[in-house]
Amino acid sequence: MEYPRITKSALEDFSVKPNLQDYQKIYENFSWDKLAQELDWFDSEHINIAHVAIDAHLKTDRKNKKAMIWEGKKGDVEEYTFSDLSQLSNKFANVLVNKLGIQKGDRVFFFLERIPEIYIGILGALKAGGVIGPLFSAFGPDAARDRLEDSEAKVLVTSPALKKKIEDVIPELPALENIVMVQRGKEISDSNDLSYEELMAEASESFDIVKTHKEDYAIMHYTSGTTGKPKGAVHVHEAVLGHYATGKYVLDLQKEDIYWCTADPGWVTGTSYGMFGPWSNGATQAIYEGGFSAKRWYKFIEQRKITIWYTAPTAIRMLMKTGDQLPGAYNFDSLRTLYSVGEPLNPEAVVWGETIFGKAFHDNWWQTETGSIMIANYPIQDIKPGSMGRPFPGITAGIIDDSFNEMASGEEGNLALRPGWPSMFRTYWKKEEMYQSRFQNGWYITGDRAKRDNEGYFWFVGRTDDVINTAGHLVGPFEVESVLIEHPAVAEAGVIGKPDPIAMEVVKAFVSLKVGYEPTDELQLDIQKFAMKRLASAAAPREIEFVDSLPKTRSGKIMRRLLKAKELGLPLGDTSTLEDD
Ligand code: AMP
Repeated sequence: MEYPRITKSALEDFSVKPNLQDYQKIYENFSWDKLAQELDWFDSEHINIAHVAIDAHLKTDRKNKKAMIWEGKKGDVEEYTFSDLSQLSNKFANVLVNKLGIQKGDRVFFFLERIPEIYIGILGALKAGGVIGPLFSAFGPDAARDRLEDSEAKVLVTSPALKKKIEDVIPELPALENIVMVQRGKEISDSNDLSYEELMAEASESFDIVKTHKEDYAIMHYTSGTTGKPKGAVHVHEAVLGHYATGKYVLDLQKEDIYWCTADPGWVTGTSYGMFGPWSNGATQAIYEGGFSAKRWYKFIEQRKITIWYTAPTAIRMLMKTGDQLPGAYNFDSLRTLYSVGEPLNPEAVVWGETIFGKAFHDNWWQTETGSIMIANYPIQDIKPGSMGRPFPGITAGIIDDSFNEMASGEEGNLALRPGWPSMFRTYWKKEEMYQSRFQNGWYITGDRAKRDNEGYFWFVGRTDDVINTAGHLVGPFEVESVLIEHPAVAEAGVIGKPDPIAMEVVKAFVSLKVGYEPTDELQLDIQKFAMKRLASAAAPREIEFVDSLPKTRSGKIMRRLLKAKELGLPLGDTSTLEDD
């Protein structure tokens, strides 16, 4: 049986006006096993993400269809068919296996701008059986080192400009055996580094894809927590079933679509829905290399005739800020559906989308750990502006109390999911205990607080921890504090998220100085620059406030809760564990 899609075509399947009862039918008919049969497995146990995303199409009339239309910052355009991506990724797989000795399970990391080689490289590394780890190109040396060190990456694929940023920390990475430089016309300064272009020129176009088991590790994305350094959430090859299913049912990706995901491949949205979801569904992806620019974005939609657009609330709010007149100069008739993820989408933004594009933004919720969309507003389902939507059919979501028991509709509690979906993370790299601690009483605890209404729509309330969500990027306060205290003038630092109308939150640091240092404007700027160089720009504190001392528990932990309450002018609450002065 063809499954009803939670899209326009689902309407036809049921030949009735959509209402919640129909959605119920879709939920009841859903089966991961049946959907799995739509993918090209090697056998019942073995599957490879890159094969499903790219090579499987070579057996069909999509072989010479455009898979990727890439537009550079300067307006240069490159186009790749599924067949091109297959051959190029085969070449890179050959480079990894035959030249660099990569074996199944070895980590291959990417620190690249949003250029075609990151897509080709990731596909090639997956074909080779490697575990890929993309690093956000805005990372500074400390952020890159922490992730490369923890993952013990063997190969790093980067570019001359980005390598320069992290040069100083490379000697601190003993597991790193080879650096492959994507030159694109630029010089390589270190003769130990290898040229991507030269290696690719010599490599064969045919490669026997490693027949990975569905539970073999494939993807690592680092995510921030309240304490400690970022941890690597690990996903397996079977995850592609989740990318495919949600790409089909939530994003409504059809073969004729031209789809644009604005997320960087350094974050999970940039791989799950910037590579595997759209390609496994046979859609054409348009990729714009540059960052945010309202004019360039509007032009991109018009010129590339984007049909499905997946973006984030901060970007939408930035577009809103540039006014309602600018979009009037562009034609958005090609757009069919718009989506948003990463932060709460305010109702005004949903309504604004409807006014400007004639289409509302459909909010959906998921995390690095979940690997694919878990809760969504579907194209034919009425949107309740401000709500994240309803759980994906194969997913059971619940609101649970602090003893891990389910709560009634309308009550606010911990958002939790029943474990076991294909793209669920399988561990935190080398932190199995921390992974296990996320599962309680048969639930995966997401770390978010939410409510469910009587119609099953979920509403985001906030996070249960101190993690800061700035422009959709999670920032762990500990990571920022660790960098700040490396500055020679800083004695102690406490970091919080300060509400912001565009980015939702920005990073604010409270800093106490060592004896002999004066709290001047210059010092503030110097500390900010210091942090910016080491972390990603979004993670560097936008604001620094000098304080004489920081509130701490008796065991010496900085009480960020109090710093936040002070910042917001809220009551300070229970201070009984505060340090004695
Ligand atoms: P990440 O793991 O970096 O993808 O961040 C996941 C977190 O971002 C979630 O746990 C939420 O706190 C937040 N988030 C993601 N999507 C939404 C959404 N639609 N509404 C509200 N918060 C969201």
